[in-house]
Amino acid sequence: MIAADPPLASRLTNPALLKPPSQWGAWSPAPANFSVNDPATGGRIATVPDFEIAHVRHAIEQSHGAQKTWAAHTARTRADHLKLWFRLWLENIEDLATILTLEQGKPLAEARAEIRYGASYVEWFAEEARRLYGDIIPAPVSNQKILVTRHPVGVVAAITPWNFPNAMMARKVAPALAAGCSIVAKPAAETPLSTIAIANLAEQAGIPGEVFAVLPMTNAAAFGDEVTGNAKVAKITFTGSTAVGRKLMGQGAGQIKRFGLELGGNAPFIVFDDADLDAAVDGAIVAKFRNAGQTCVCANRIYVQSGIHDAFRDALATRIAQLRVGSGMNPDSEIGPLVSAASIGKVQALVADAVEKGATVVIGGRPIASQGHFFGPTLLTGAERSMKLATDEIFGPVAPIFRFETENEVVELANDTEYGLAAYLFSRSLSRIFHVADRLEVGMVGVNTGIISTEVAPFGGVKQSGLGREGSKYGLEDYTDLKYVCLQTQ
Ligand code: NAP
Repeated sequence: MIAADPPLASRLTNPALLKPPSQWGAWSPAPANFSVNDPATGGRIATVPDFEIAHVRHAIEQSHGAQKTWAAHTARTRADHLKLWFRLWLENIEDLATILTLEQGKPLAEARAEIRYGASYVEWFAEEARRLYGDIIPAPVSNQKILVTRHPVGVVAAITPWNFPNAMMARKVAPALAAGCSIVAKPAAETPLSTIAIANLAEQAGIPGEVFAVLPMTNAAAFGDEVTGNAKVAKITFTGSTAVGRKLMGQGAGQIKRFGLELGGNAPFIVFDDADLDAAVDGAIVAKFRNAGQTCVCANRIYVQSGIHDAFRDALATRIAQLRVGSGMNPDSEIGPLVSAASIGKVQALVADAVEKGATVVIGGRPIASQGHFFGPTLLTGAERSMKLATDEIFGPVAPIFRFETENEVVELANDTEYGLAAYLFSRSLSRIFHVADRLEVGMVGVNTGIISTEVAPFGGVKQSGLGREGSKYGLEDYTDLKYVCLQTQ
């Protein structure tokens, strides 16, 4: 049912990573297939089954039965399975990274980092599974005890995007399984192989296929319709665009579904005059150009105070000129392809709109002619709030610099967006750091750093960037319901 083409099959030391997960055999009718392509070449690397709504229904039915058995295990047993899964994940890191790079495009070094990052959630939630504590609350009358316990919500449906095909799924499956939930997952159609591979490792770790079921499919709306309308699904956890998150939430309202939503971002990256210039440039490179600018926490608007503006612009331009663009499989590449031709068109249109409205292209600004979807790392100056890239997620390797004068002005500009996921600020003044970080309307702030993602901290946004948190102790609570028992003692 899965056929890996030579560029992929010949590179894997453990081809069993791409075998069909066992529960697929129980689903009928036999599905059609769809192709998975390498964005660096446009060439096909595999074909996978294209499941349909009947298969989703079947998977939910199986998952509903299996969840009760899974939840009946002790927390320690669930943790042991997760720990074994974590070890297998790291033992297969080279193959998992190869699969990820070939289907998604990011450089191998970044793919390895994503595999480690995804695994860190499995390890973290294996540990947290045993700390899902309740409460005993002092009762208002003397002959009562009030007990509060946490219970798994039940069957969870997960939908993930193509930009982090391993880690975005890990952030959902690990807490769901730790809490005693089962999960029915639809990866992005561009990148289903990474999820199939970790599902095979989960089965090897003793996690039944019905407890973590994977459905690659091209009809995403059909999956969304079924999981929001099926009474056996308790929660939908979605990472992707705000538009699709909003649609799913509307569909789920009829059944009061629980939602975890990790949606779009428009991160401001603020450099004050008193910043350490080298640290700010390092931060901008990683926050802007990681994954070719295709991350939800990417620096989207770079605000630079007048006094440091020219020095920052020149230093950033020098670093951008050194970035090596190429296939992710080439160990020298630092910037891989964008995911599709449509992404190239969107980024090109944003640059054209900015230039038309007065921005200057310092470096880059156009696609790189080749067989894949490559866009040259780009620096723009003279960016203004009237430009589309001030309000839209760029999702490409384009760094626009906006000049500002005062602290109040930049806080107002930074908050002038429907999004509220991440923000970055660079300053040496402790009082300014606290004052500005407090006023930024976001879920996460990086201060003097461009990297904020870690399994121990709560990842998520405010405003239209989402609901709930992934990772940390809060990420486990999102997969549980509270139950309160009032016990009359005499
Ligand atoms: P997308 O178009 O919303 O797709 C995300 C997922 O939703 C894919 O699996 C897609 O399936 C599926 N989907 C699309 N329409 C659907 C529908 N009607 N019902 C159910 N599922 C549906 O987003 P994307 O372009 O892939 O990803 C980029 C977006 O994700 C950006 O906005 C980025 O900021 C956001 N993101 C957020 C976070 C975070 O943690 N906040 C992390 C990563 C990415 P198909 O692939 O088959 O279309």
